[in-house]
Amino acid sequence: PAIPDSLPRLEELAHNLRWSWDYQARSLFRRLDRDLWESSGRNPVLMLGQIDQRILNEAAADRAFLAHYERVCRDLDHYLSGEDSWYRLNHDNQQDTLFAYFSMEFGITDCMPIYSGGLGVLAGEHLKSASDLGLPVVGVGLLYQEGYFRQYLNPDGWQQEAYVERDFYTLPIKPATKDGEGPLKVTVPLDGHPVVVQVWLAQVGRIPLYLLDTNLPDNSAEDRDITDRLYGGDRDMRIRQEIVLGIGGMRALAALGVEPQVCHMNEGHSAFVAIERIRQLMMQKDYSFDQARIEARAGHVFTTHTPVAAGNDFFPAELIEKHLGRFYKELGLGLQQFMALGRQNADDAHEAFCMTVLAMHLSDHNNAVSQLHEQVTRRMWAATWPGAPEAEVPVSHVTNAVHTESWISHDLAELFDTYLSPGWRDQPGDVNLWQDVNEIPAEELWRTHERRRERLVAFARRRLHHQLRSRGVPLSRLGWVDEALDPQVLTIGFGRRFASYKRPLLLLKDAERLARLVNDPDKPVQVIFAGKAHPRDEQGKEMIRSLVHLCEQPAFRKRLVFLEDYDLDVARYMVQGVDIWLNNPRRPLEASGTSGMKSSLNGVLNVSVLDGWWDEAYNPEIGWAIGRGETYQDESVQDQVESEALYDLMEKDIVPLFYRRSGNHLPRQWVERMKRTMIELGPLFNTHRMVRQYAERYYLPSLDHSRWFATKDGANAAAVAEWEARIQREWPNVAFIDISAD
Ligand SMILES: *Cc1c(COP(=O)(O)O)cnc(C)c1O
Repeated sequence: PAIPDSLPRLEELAHNLRWSWDYQARSLFRRLDRDLWESSGRNPVLMLGQIDQRILNEAAADRAFLAHYERVCRDLDHYLSGEDSWYRLNHDNQQDTLFAYFSMEFGITDCMPIYSGGLGVLAGEHLKSASDLGLPVVGVGLLYQEGYFRQYLNPDGWQQEAYVERDFYTLPIKPATKDGEGPLKVTVPLDGHPVVVQVWLAQVGRIPLYLLDTNLPDNSAEDRDITDRLYGGDRDMRIRQEIVLGIGGMRALAALGVEPQVCHMNEGHSAFVAIERIRQLMMQKDYSFDQARIEARAGHVFTTHTPVAAGNDFFPAELIEKHLGRFYKELGLGLQQFMALGRQNADDAHEAFCMTVLAMHLSDHNNAVSQLHEQVTRRMWAATWPGAPEAEVPVSHVTNAVHTESWISHDLAELFDTYLSPGWRDQPGDVNLWQDVNEIPAEELWRTHERRRERLVAFARRRLHHQLRSRGVPLSRLGWVDEALDPQVLTIGFGRRFASYKRPLLLLKDAERLARLVNDPDKPVQVIFAGKAHPRDEQGKEMIRSLVHLCEQPAFRKRLVFLEDYDLDVARYMVQGVDIWLNNPRRPLEASGTSGMKSSLNGVLNVSVLDGWWDEAYNPEIGWAIGRGETYQDESVQDQVESEALYDLMEKDIVPLFYRRSGNHLPRQWVERMKRTMIELGPLFNTHRMVRQYAERYYLPSLDHSRWFATKDGANAAAVAEWEARIQREWPNVAFIDISAD
């Protein structure tokens, strides 16, 4: 269809992903054609490619639509100008500053399925907040043809994975170009031959996100598949993906003329960034390897996310030699010297190459993602700094967070607009501003929340109907679905990956006790579950199957529901509509967790093990803790003790509090807790706070370090390299010669 003359910027609006967190822009597209908006997967680019010309022409002549359109355009212009952004007001005394953020996944909106879970959502929201704050950042990631899988279940409840191939020209992205030439391409060495990588651009508000794609006719069939699936392949595929992300990513930026001073590696996947930066410095400035290593290191920030050893990437020497043999020769290194960069013990010829260790060796700042995770990380990686006391292992933390405007329900946002100062959108880190949540009348807050719960129940019924039909259940046996769940009943949400350490079945441990809870005639409870298991995690799939079997039993059918294909959309309905968000990982394996933050923004109360973020957020006035932060030797004992603690909390505290109603059916004390939750957690667990901390604690100091090294033609880097070498060389000669004490 042809875009009418009176709506010249419609394409531009569709291509700036700011609509994914701007309600006005989204509702402009929805207003055009409600059905198509939904059927296009809420993808305005696909929508504009399929829309009926007549509808567009009508919109172009509709005064109300035009006014809405003008408002959205004006707002975007103001937003993009960045006039009153935090960075402009506080730090913009440096010219030509640029930070780059690398991640294997980005969760920005559902029509771009290049994320699998929390890590990706965090990366997407890091960019959204960087954009809101005016921080000069570019993002770099991979553009997967199929991305992560869509989940559906077979009639036995066994997870099936469907991969949907994307047509990039129907996504809100464009080929990246330089100086108006054709699509930008770079090459990356792999297995002794060059692989061609095309660069795409997704505009996230003010932030460009460059996405790399190897599915090109220039490449062999095998190489075309590198950017096919997220976390889909074996070790060999994984290292090739990580080479494309790290080395290809840095080359793409160089080819675009984009020169970041500081590179942030989000998780070990992108740690090859560090070695490519070293190579570039050696080529450009004729540095020695050590000189380049020292200078590059000053500009690297690394965040680790995974306290589960198996979640970190390890590569055997054969794979490193196969894919990077030519590369490290260019650096003047042999295999063992290169392997040492990724080993805790450089002299251990059997140790595999670990991406986390590589990143830690080559970063100015290493950080974990919560206070507790910092301690766990120090212990876990202490051997990377042999002999250093745990307290001196150089790891700090910035606690994860969520992007407020991406998760708060529109209904609640409207209440905030009425009762809070308008700054709640731009400065959600301001503690004082959240105090005004107290001004919201309890009745109004409760009605708003009940409306969200009703919407969640309607949504769940629709999904349930659809998924059971797809599983082959005849319509005649689906009558009960219209009565599944009850919009008045205390609703618990459990939405997260089905990994065994997250223990999705803990609440089901004592089926009889659970049946009594959910079927209580006066004070019933219902639970909505959702989550994907990794395609190769048989245990995770087994947990889904047993959960689904239990959901099918008559005692549970209307009260326990599993929603297929957990994604941002399902998550949004859940965190906005439930009353309780349940989280029961095995401490301390949940590095942070973020879904509980999404729910707390919406006044949902958390019930959680004291792990990750909840260990620092919990206080008895806002939510509940399962246990007191104990760790156990025996997992079955732990499950027994903690499931009983959970039932006790439900029976004695949570259910009675929820159903304690005043005259007009209002649970006053519950609403009081909802308010406390928002007031206390709102200002802390938002990505504006998080990104500011990254900027002030890591990016800006690193920027100074890099600039210091970049002066004097590398003399500073040479001096530090020299010093390090001397200390290493002379260390064995250090001795206590005399000790005296009084
Ligand atoms: C927030 C989110 C996650 C991460 O939630 P955790 O609490 O960290 O487990 C995973 N998947 C989706 C779709 C999300 O929105």
